[in-house]
Amino acid sequence: MDCHDENLNASADECPRQCGQCNVCCTAMLVRPLDKPAGMRCAHQTDTGCGNYENRPSVCRTWYCMWVRDGAGIFTEEHRPDKLGVFFTATNPESAGDRQVIHVHQLYPGAADRREAVNVIHFLRQFVPVEIIPARGDIREAPIAPATLTHNGKAVA
Ligand code: SF4
Ligand code: SF4
Repeated sequence: MDCHDENLNASADECPRQCGQCNVCCTAMLVRPLDKPAGMRCAHQTDTGCGNYENRPSVCRTWYCMWVRDGAGIFTEEHRPDKLGVFFTATNPESAGDRQVIHVHQLYPGAADRREAVNVIHFLRQFVPVEIIPARGDIREAPIAPATLTHNGKAVA
């Protein structure tokens, strides 16, 4: 899944929640400016956050999953993606129109079948089509992607 194709961008100040200890999208998603494939840990991930924070690409500064962007109170704290095993994104309503779809990104096979995730998916399906994306392996065992470029084209260690 390409993080550039989904969700309207936002600044962290506009989002009702903060990621906290979650960093699963740093593994699960393609980050094109870093040439980081989906399903590989970003070379900058650390146990305490982004090790390239000051120079992280703009997409890392402005892309957030639905849990962070949840202004409607759909999700609880227990639905944080690293706890739930899935995270949700929505196709951009400005380009998708009536075809807007919510995507469920599984962090490991079967994550969307767990009761907590099933309950949320069932709730969302009342309002909009929901598509479950097959897991790309298990992100808990994901290899580390080689560091390549920063967003401004400078090589990083
Ligand atoms: S999956 Fe959501 S909560 Fe987790 S790090 Fe990414 S944007 Fe933050
Ligand atoms: S640069 Fe930082 S914020 Fe961006 S994917 Fe890598 S670890 Fe995550």
